[in-house]
Amino acid sequence: MIIKKFGGTSVGSVERIQKLVPLIHDGQRKLVVLSAMSGTTNALVEISSAFYALQDEKATQLILNLENKYKQVIKDLYKQETYAAKATKVIDEWFGYLKSLAGNVFSNLQERAVLAIGEILSTHLVHFYLLEIGVENVLLDALSFMKLNLQGEPDMEFISKELTLQVAQYPDNQLFITQGYICRNALGETANLQRGGSDYTASLVGAAINANEVQIWTDIDGMHNNDPRFVDKTYPIHELSFDEAAELAYFGAKILHPSTILPAKLKNIPVSILNTMAPDQKGTMITAKPTQDNQGVKAVAAKDGITAIRIKSSRMLLAYGFLRKVFEVFEKYKTPIDLITTSEVAISLTIDNPHALDNIVNELKDFCSVEVEHFQTIVCVVGNFALDKSGVARNVLSALEHIPIRMISYGGSENNISLLIESSRKIEVLKALNKGVFGL
Ligand code: ASP
Ligand code: MG
Repeated sequence: MIIKKFGGTSVGSVERIQKLVPLIHDGQRKLVVLSAMSGTTNALVEISSAFYALQDEKATQLILNLENKYKQVIKDLYKQETYAAKATKVIDEWFGYLKSLAGNVFSNLQERAVLAIGEILSTHLVHFYLLEIGVENVLLDALSFMKLNLQGEPDMEFISKELTLQVAQYPDNQLFITQGYICRNALGETANLQRGGSDYTASLVGAAINANEVQIWTDIDGMHNNDPRFVDKTYPIHELSFDEAAELAYFGAKILHPSTILPAKLKNIPVSILNTMAPDQKGTMITAKPTQDNQGVKAVAAKDGITAIRIKSSRMLLAYGFLRKVFEVFEKYKTPIDLITTSEVAISLTIDNPHALDNIVNELKDFCSVEVEHFQTIVCVVGNFALDKSGVARNVLSALEHIPIRMISYGGSENNISLLIESSRKIEVLKALNKGVFGL
C-alpha cells in the first residue's frame, strides 16, 4: 500500500480536483489523505475567533461566504444531479451546524469541531466526484481510527489495529480516501494534529499499516536548499536522510509538518515530497540512508519567534549540578529547549514557546542572573558534516562575517550547525548563505 497525501492547494479548486484523478487512479493500491481546500481552515479559524468574541453577525457572514464558495464548487464539479445532491447534503449538514453555533456557548470543544469541517468537506467532495466519473473508492472516516492518548500523542496501537481492520473489509478495493489533520482525543472528542497536520496523518497511517511509501504531494517540487519565499535562486534537493529532513522541517522548512518524519523513520518507510503541478519532477526522497552524494551543506532553513535566555552565575565555575538545576526549571514548566551553548560561567539557550517565560525567569533568578532577548531567529544549516573535511563551519561563518551572531551550535549532531541571529537580519542571512555556501 502507498500513502498519498495532497495538501490544500492540490484540492483547492475544481480544476485541481479534476487534475488529481490521474495521480490517484493508476492501478496501485493506495490510501489518499486529503487536506481541506486551501483557505478553508483559515476561514474556520476566523469564524471561531468571531464566535469567541461574541460577534455572531460577523461569524454568520463569514459562514455564508464560505458556504457560497462550496455551493459554487458543487455546481462546477458535478455533471450528474445524483452526485451533486449527495455533496449538497453533506455541505448543508455542516453549514447548518456552523450556523447553529450562533447564540450558543463557544468553547474549545466547539472550536475543534469547527476546525475539522474543512477536511470532512474536501474528502466528501472528492469521494463523490470520483464515483461520478466511475473511479471506485472507499471513504474512511479518520475520526473512527485516528486517536490520541491521554498525553495527546497518537495512539499507534489503536490506529494500527482499527485502520488495518477497516482496510481489510474491502480486500478488492484499490483506492481509499481519508481526512488528514483531524482525530479524536482520549475522551473521544474531535481534535486535530495542529495546523499543517495532514502531513503527520500521512506518516502516522503509513506507519500504522506498514505502507511501502508515504508521498506528500504539494505545490513545490520538493524541499529546497534555501527558503524560496525569501531567496531567489533555490533548487530542490533530491535526497535527504530522515535526520536531515527532520531538522529542516523542525527548523522552519514550511513544506513539511515537523512531526512527519518520526513515524516513518521508526518503520523505515521512505517519504517523498512531490509536486502536483509538475508530477514528473523528481521531488525529494527521504530515506534512512545517509546520502553519500555530496559532503557538506545540503540546505538551510530559518525559524522565527525564538526567545534567547542568557544565564550567568559565578557559582557555576568549577561547580557540578548547575546545569541540572537550570534544566529542572524548564522541565517543571514543560518548556522544551532548542539550542544551548555554554561557557564556564554562563549558558545561553533558546525556547520557541514563551508561555511560561515569566515563571521560568523568576525561578532562575533565585540562583543566577538572567537576560532575555526576543525576536530571535534560528538559522539551521543541514548537511553531512561527518568528517568536516570540507570546512563547512568556515564557509558558513565567512559567508556571515558582517552579521552579528548571538549563538553558534556545532557538533551536537553530524548534520546540523545552528546559528541564532536577530530576526530582522534573517533574509540577509539566508541570501548571504545562498551566495557564500551554495555559490548562487
Ligand atoms: N487543513 C489544515 C491546515 O490548514 C491541515 C493541513 O492542511 O495540513 O492547517
Ligand atoms: Mg501543509
